[in-house]
Amino acid sequence: MFLELFKSLLFKYYVGNEPDRWFRLIRSIPPEFVKKAQGRDFKAVVKLVAERSPFYREKFKKLGIDPRSVEKPSDLGEFYTTSKDLLENPPEAFLCGTPRIGFETTGTSSNKNKRIFFSQEEIDSIAKDAPAGLLLLGLRRGDKVCSTMHSSFWNAGFTIREAMRHFDCFYVNADKLPPIEFYERAQSYKFDAIVCEPSWLVLYTELCKQRGGFWPIKFFLVGGENMTEHARRFVEEAWNCNVFIGYGMTETFGSVGVECPSKMGYHINEFHNWCEILKPDADGYGELVVTTLQRSTMPLLRYRTSDVTRLIDEPCTCAIPNIRRIAKIRGRSDEMINCGMGNISPPIFEYAFDGIQGITNDWQVAVKKDGPLDLIEFRFEIANGSSAAELEKVVTDQFKTRYPDYWRNVEMGLYKLACRFEPRGTLRKKQKLIKVVDERHELWESKI
Ligand SMILES: [Zn+2]
Repeated sequence: MFLELFKSLLFKYYVGNEPDRWFRLIRSIPPEFVKKAQGRDFKAVVKLVAERSPFYREKFKKLGIDPRSVEKPSDLGEFYTTSKDLLENPPEAFLCGTPRIGFETTGTSSNKNKRIFFSQEEIDSIAKDAPAGLLLLGLRRGDKVCSTMHSSFWNAGFTIREAMRHFDCFYVNADKLPPIEFYERAQSYKFDAIVCEPSWLVLYTELCKQRGGFWPIKFFLVGGENMTEHARRFVEEAWNCNVFIGYGMTETFGSVGVECPSKMGYHINEFHNWCEILKPDADGYGELVVTTLQRSTMPLLRYRTSDVTRLIDEPCTCAIPNIRRIAKIRGRSDEMINCGMGNISPPIFEYAFDGIQGITNDWQVAVKKDGPLDLIEFRFEIANGSSAAELEKVVTDQFKTRYPDYWRNVEMGLYKLACRFEPRGTLRKKQKLIKVVDERHELWESKI
């Protein structure tokens, strides 16, 4: 692809293993250049999948799409690639080249995992971009880095390892150890940066609070799931350092974007991804759709991510103002539920529960039925032996204060509200916890 060729020449003759050189180049690339190159690469991807991928070839035929007339994503009309497509078709249906490395997604709502395949060249190309981002976050030559991302079928640990090959640092892959085991072993390294999952980081920080054992650390980079601002604040205050969030998915080898020191959205890697927002609302928020631009093994065209965000066109205040951003992920489109309380999604409850002591960060809101009414059940895990009755009062009082309109509707009898408290560690059944679930259909099904 055009940008890939341009980049490989730059790395060969100028950048080498010096991330600051790539960083300086990225800073000086005008957005118009990126846009033009994206256009060329998009057309090349469409041509490739039309020729080689049975899935896309059949879809184009069925929908009457002439690939030669497609210049930009909107020319494909209502055609998108979905998670369902990846689950219902074998990877071979999407393959345009010989795969060398494969991963599986962790998934939130399905028992099946999506399988995504790459070539080594594709992985190298994505990995070469990461050091420039890490440099911006404060990583320097000679620093000690550790990843506690698990690497069983999943790409995250592998992605960090590949990125670190292009940064002159010391690196340890810890994999996802229980925090207590990591605690014992990390002390002798005193890492400068740790890449991990947010839920693991909160547990690890709680452990360090109980036992002591903080050391000066530059930053944590978290990914794999969203992190509430409450959890971020908790970790940052405890360690007196920054927590940055990276955003990506296995489908993109984890590389859509990463925060900068201003923490006002993720700077997106537009060399690799063409991002669109599907059906944006009045504030520009909608589902993120990504087309991979540099992949020829298993390219994805207009892939619906289910993540809700918006494109930010205003320049950032950091050192790379020319690199576009998307806002922090607001939730998943499949987690937005219309019910008696209104249109609900995780951010509503993040604010409702923010700052409440005695519960863990793993909570869940379920929509159930109680007679003709919707019952909204708040599910919490008790963190430190607080009493359920006391916690229920605190939760209800805060909900009442922060959302007087929602509370008024409870009092008017438009829906019901309940709290349920569980022991720590019981809500998360899979890798990712679905924050808002609709369980009304289960009730209907059980009656049939
Ligand atoms: Zn920035």
